[in-house]
Order: sequence, then structure tokens, then C-alpha cells
Amino acid sequence: MKKFNEQDIRLMITKIKEQTPEHYFEFKDPFWIMITTILSHRTKDEVSNLAGRNLYEKYQTALNLSKADEEEVSKLISKVGFANVKAKRVIGAAEIVINDFGGNVPNDIDLLMKIPGIGRKTANVILSDAFSIPSIAVDTHVHRISNRIGFCNTSKPDDTEECLRKQIPHDLWLGFNPVLVEFGKTICKPITPKCNVCSITEYCNYFKKIQSKNRK
Ligand code: SF4
Repeated sequence: MKKFNEQDIRLMITKIKEQTPEHYFEFKDPFWIMITTILSHRTKDEVSNLAGRNLYEKYQTALNLSKADEEEVSKLISKVGFANVKAKRVIGAAEIVINDFGGNVPNDIDLLMKIPGIGRKTANVILSDAFSIPSIAVDTHVHRISNRIGFCNTSKPDDTEECLRKQIPHDLWLGFNPVLVEFGKTICKPITPKCNVCSITEYCNYFKKIQSKNRK
């Protein structure tokens, strides 16, 4: 598999940023970033942001949410996928933040992953969005795009994270996930990527393969 040099990677990421809308963050507070990130699993950002906003308006603090009624929370987040499961998770997460971490969301990946509902990807999103700690969160968009372009040749998101950590210059880690997520939603879509308007076709392995297939 072709590996890109640092200059190519920097140029590609600049070009992707230029054609991608800026990611909108609903909250600045680490606790509410954590709650919205838990809600966002298999749910559109607009929907999880709105559900997070409903919870914030009702409960305001981790302590209040930790004591909330599960059914009431479930109603407030009813539009997100798996609302009942997530209601349990956000209350459980609030309880752990209060009981185990003195009311503060930890800024450590291993501690974050002790909270129910937080896996490796979610923990990396929280580190980066809530604490500006350079991290690479690999969701389906980042995994797909990294393999299409040819940054990686992996089948599992955890392997993609390891591969990207080796290839992407450290100063580009912060913001890497939101940029690729927006790029994946608008241009490099899952089923039908819009290669005809993409600005990095000259680097992309997937595009080169399609072109050479069409020539045969
Ligand atoms: S050329 Fe197509 S497949 Fe490659 S990154 Fe751009 S949109 Fe995605």
C-alpha cells in the first residue's frame, strides 16, 4: 500500500478542510460534551445535539442528572436511537462522574472508558472536543475515508486509529475527526462518494482504482 509523505498529507487535509463545512459544537462544558457524545451513537448530530440541549435545560448539572428519573430522561431524548438504553447510560455516566471523579469528567482515556457507554472512539472525541487533547477518534466516516484514500488498509476501527496515529502529523490530530466526519457526510459519502467534486482525487486510491476499471 502506498504511504503518503508528510507534505502530501498536509496538503490533502488542507484541501479537505477547504471544501468541508465547519463542524458545529453544541456545548463547551466537558460534562455536556460527554453526554451529547454518548447520545450521538448511531444518531445524527442534529438529533443528539437537540436531545443534549433538552437534558441540559432540564437538569443543568451532573448531580441533577445523576438523580433524574429514567422515564423522564427517556422522554426528553426520545428522538435519538435506543433512547431507553441511552437514558440509563447518561444517568449512569452522571452518577460515576459524581461518585468516582468528584463531579469532573476525567481527561484520561482509560478513566473515560470506565464510564458505561464510552468506548475508545467516544473517549477520543471527548478528549479532543472537551479538553483539546490531540486525539484521533475513528468512527465509520474516518475508517471508511482513511481506507479509501489509502492512509490505511484496515478492517477494524481500532487498527485504523493505530495506523492514523503513525501517519498523521501530531499537530493535525486535533480537529481531524470532525473534518473527516463532515467530509464523509457531504463528499466522501458511504455508498456514492462524490468523486466528481472532490479536490483530492489525485491522491485517492479508491478514485484511481475506479478510473483504471473504467478504462478496461
Ligand atoms: S476521490 Fe472519491 S473516494 Fe476519494 S476521497 Fe474523494 S470522494 Fe472519497
